[in-house]
Amino acid sequence: QKQEWAKLKNEKTYSADGVQVELAANIGTPDDIEGVLNNGGEAVGLYRTEFLYMGKSSLPSEEEQYEAYKSVLEQMDGKAVVVRTLDIGGDKELSYLDLPKEMNPFLGFRAIRFCLENEDVFRPQLRALLRASVHGNLKIMFPMIATLEEFRAAKALLLEEKESLKNEGIAVSDDIEVGIMVEIPSTAVLARQFAKEVDFFSIGTNDLIQYTMAADRMNEQVSYLYQPYHPAILNLVNNVIEAAHSEGKWVGMCGEMAGDPIAIPILLGLGLDEFSMSATSILPARTQIKNLSKEEMASYKEQLLNMGTDEEVVEFIKEKTNM
Ligand code: PEP
Ligand code: MG
Repeated sequence: QKQEWAKLKNEKTYSADGVQVELAANIGTPDDIEGVLNNGGEAVGLYRTEFLYMGKSSLPSEEEQYEAYKSVLEQMDGKAVVVRTLDIGGDKELSYLDLPKEMNPFLGFRAIRFCLENEDVFRPQLRALLRASVHGNLKIMFPMIATLEEFRAAKALLLEEKESLKNEGIAVSDDIEVGIMVEIPSTAVLARQFAKEVDFFSIGTNDLIQYTMAADRMNEQVSYLYQPYHPAILNLVNNVIEAAHSEGKWVGMCGEMAGDPIAIPILLGLGLDEFSMSATSILPARTQIKNLSKEEMASYKEQLLNMGTDEEVVEFIKEKTNM
């Protein structure tokens, strides 16, 4: 099996009936790129920048960030790199920021909520990204967007920093796509309105599942409710994909679900454009997709969306794909 995977390393990803999708990788540091390329990654679908901020005693400087982003873009050599701005809070703490303890950290002051209130932290990251943009194919994505206002505010700061850099005579790319993570149910429900304003969506199922099912993703006692194939999740994912496509935008997924062999046939049928996963899942996923008919999977869409339980979905997919 490893041999069959290796043959697909330098291939694009097509379903059995010839529909192309993109298989991207999730990374945490520039050192991860070697593994992405060795495993046939076509892009970086999620660069979690919080690792630049964690495990140190102070904020990373703009320069330090610029070097990291530039390194990732250069190593990817023109292939798309989706960089997510700082997603701190929740389970990820920064000792040097001295944030107040919260009753419900996952529902609290995290990610874009923190960045919009702390421009002294957020602006240097935006500047570093903009400066790095001339070294490759950069796309910027904001995490934990719950409202249109948050997206507009974050994008406005980005445009402000772009203007300042240009005024300083520093080169910035003019083709940077700006998108959002869809990981909060309000945004998945209102995807149609968001789709008019963003360049792309990336569905973050790790959080979308926990918020939709109201089940802490770290709590073993409620892990039975953490159900990626629950029809409620599938309906939200479908809503996001339909909304994006009706506005001519693309949709990726960068939660664990994107690399899951049971989810892949469903997501292919719903029309997901980009699947971003851990690098080692890419070749198995490419092999699986090569053997799936997108048209057939799409024909099951209404049935799947109308099911009542996660178990029904799993049984159905296993039967249809001979698992
Ligand atoms: C997600 O929520 O699905 C996601 C990809 O982000 P993280 O796991 O970093 O929260
Ligand atoms: Mg998340």
